[in-house]
Amino acid sequence: MTGKTTPMVNITGLEKRFGPEVAVHGVNLSVEKGEFVTLLGPSGCGKTTTLRCIAGLERLDAGEISIGEKIVVSAGKNIFLYPEQREIGMVFQSYAVWPHMTVFDNVAYGLRVRGFGSAELKKKTNYALELVGLDHLASRFATKLSGGQRQRVALARAICYEPNVILFDEPLSNLDAKLREQMRDEIVRLQKEVGITSIFVTHDQSEALVMSDRIVVMDKAVIQQIGDPKTIYANPANAFVANFIGVANLFEGNLSDRKGGNAAAKIDFGGALGVKELLANDVSNISSNSKIHLCIRPEDMELSTKKFTGELAKNSITGKVIETVYLGNFLECRVKIGNYEMIIQLDHFEQLKKDQSVNVSFKAAHGLLLSD
Ligand code: ATP
Repeated sequence: MTGKTTPMVNITGLEKRFGPEVAVHGVNLSVEKGEFVTLLGPSGCGKTTTLRCIAGLERLDAGEISIGEKIVVSAGKNIFLYPEQREIGMVFQSYAVWPHMTVFDNVAYGLRVRGFGSAELKKKTNYALELVGLDHLASRFATKLSGGQRQRVALARAICYEPNVILFDEPLSNLDAKLREQMRDEIVRLQKEVGITSIFVTHDQSEALVMSDRIVVMDKAVIQQIGDPKTIYANPANAFVANFIGVANLFEGNLSDRKGGNAAAKIDFGGALGVKELLANDVSNISSNSKIHLCIRPEDMELSTKKFTGELAKNSITGKVIETVYLGNFLECRVKIGNYEMIIQLDHFEQLKKDQSVNVSFKAAHGLLLSD
């Protein structure tokens, strides 16, 4: 994304309180035309409230939101457009399809209330039904549909009048695991085919990683990081993001020194191990002596029953095997190191016994330093 074009959705300084409770604080976000952006975070972090503010289902305490060229809400300028004036489509967790209507009428509803003539209404509805693979069920009543089919109706209804943006609020959470995956892939295919700007709320990190151009990670009403899935995983902004996206081994300590292009962090493992100095990738914005978290992904850890040599010898620590689990193409090993427990993913299949002493290590480049 160049960032030079006018964003399709632009949110600045969004604040939303419910009584004393701050639901959303200081949210700034630009979504480009055709982009698929996910709001991801734990329950209660403010993602649904953010989406509802974009939709016009909540009033703002502060901030401004534009969709396309239009300011749709501004607390300062006292502007508020109702949802139907905002050029948005919505797909919710509950399918919200009308049981007394046929599939065709459910999808055509949005076009009818917008005053489309019958020829165009028919053409657009049939096109949307084709896109979601429901054209053969157009005359069926919505009550006679499966959960997945109902969600497709909701999707067709949201896209058929070509809104500027589609807002998705956990649309897959009522579906069983297999269907969930199928619908997830279908939404992505459809979104790319139609090129419609999408904002998608989920608390499921794997959904966010697979579907999104960019992920907005939220916690405690605040955006923690915005980035593409790869960046968020490889360079989490803080310990919360590291823990929330994927599995992270996280140690607390102090940045003690800088050595040969690497940063040295002192970690207190407790017990007989005590304090150990480990080498990590240097991040110049963290000053010496400050508190840090050291994050190493399970696939970046090495484990051996022998002594490490070369670079790995510098970060070698001893631990005890808690358990190993075979997960098809790799072995997941939990190891106790002082007061910490590490998860290590191995692609070599050593025979390891419970309580066996092992050496674990990682390359300094794989040690991510995160400020406290
Ligand atoms: P979930 O995944 O559980 O839906 P969320 O991240 O979408 O969570 P929100 O629904 O946005 O979170 O809620 C943010 C905070 O605002 C929560 O603490 C919630 O209790 C509070 N909240 C949301 N809606 C209301 C409301 N109508 N009245 C009072 N408090 C609310």
